[in-house]
Amino acid sequence: PKNLVEIKTLKKYFHLGKDVTVKSVDDISFTIRSGETFGLVGESGSGKSTLGKTIVGLHQASGGEIIYNGKKVAELSKEEQRVANKEMQIIFQDPHASLNPRMRVGDIIAEGIDAYKLLKGKQRERRIYELLERVGLLPEHAKRYPHEFSGGQRQRIGIARALAVEPKFIVADEPISALDVSIQAQVVNLMEDLAKTEGLTYLFIAHDLGMVKHISDRIGVMYLGKMMELSDSDDMFQNPLHPYTQALLSAIPKTNPKMAKRERIMLQGDPPSPTDPPSGCRFRTRCPLAMEVCAKVEPSFKEVEPNHWTACHLYDA
Ligand code: SF4
Ligand code: MG
Repeated sequence: PKNLVEIKTLKKYFHLGKDVTVKSVDDISFTIRSGETFGLVGESGSGKSTLGKTIVGLHQASGGEIIYNGKKVAELSKEEQRVANKEMQIIFQDPHASLNPRMRVGDIIAEGIDAYKLLKGKQRERRIYELLERVGLLPEHAKRYPHEFSGGQRQRIGIARALAVEPKFIVADEPISALDVSIQAQVVNLMEDLAKTEGLTYLFIAHDLGMVKHISDRIGVMYLGKMMELSDSDDMFQNPLHPYTQALLSAIPKTNPKMAKRERIMLQGDPPSPTDPPSGCRFRTRCPLAMEVCAKVEPSFKEVEPNHWTACHLYDA
């Protein structure tokens, strides 16, 4: 299948002080195929949100390249840039914080329509009603305010706002993490349904593998600014290669009988500070299998099995 988004040696560094730099996204390369849902997983501070925001242009990359629909984003003309901005949308984790409390829901949903001057008057109004229904809300909700809705409903409003401009690619930045467990599946089902009917491609970000399992075609696992493993979703669950992924999966043994039989790998402590990551392999301070080489040499991200990539010295030839 065709690649919709290609990321090449992408970097996003934040300079917090004279000698303090956080390498939130540090030399990451991967592709997102047209029509797929790519699940991106990592603990907080792994850089997954920063990666998503950099791809849609909310952060300026510190290095590397983003290729959208076959063209380098940095080299697009003004008009092409406008189209790309419209086609790449983002849904945020906290639907409460991302919806302006003083705006009516209809106007929130129409933010993109207004910004790109797509529709006005009756047509605009009809489109708002149609979008509300599309996400499981009602036309009369258009004149209400965000605080009158539940968390799940607010996330539906955020989804409708993203859909309004007919996007092709949506970065969903932890869209279900702030929701009650009982509501999470409903929002995921809606997003899956929209992917099919609207032909969307997603980068679906979550902090745990269980949340992306059912929706993702492929999954990437990040740790301290690096991609540690990338494979088909099923393969990731049945045959995790990286000790970090194995540890994440052994925390949810019920969903994975094969892993449950393996020795449970416990993650020791919290991730180290991203301002001062360990030398060599960044996971080594928490890795139960760390070797001498792991402190000295950074493992390269390579295809160890067909379509299955990982960065770990255990797989050095
Ligand atoms: Fe563990 Fe070494 Fe592999 Fe890093 S490179 S995950 S420390 S075995
Ligand atoms: Mg985040």
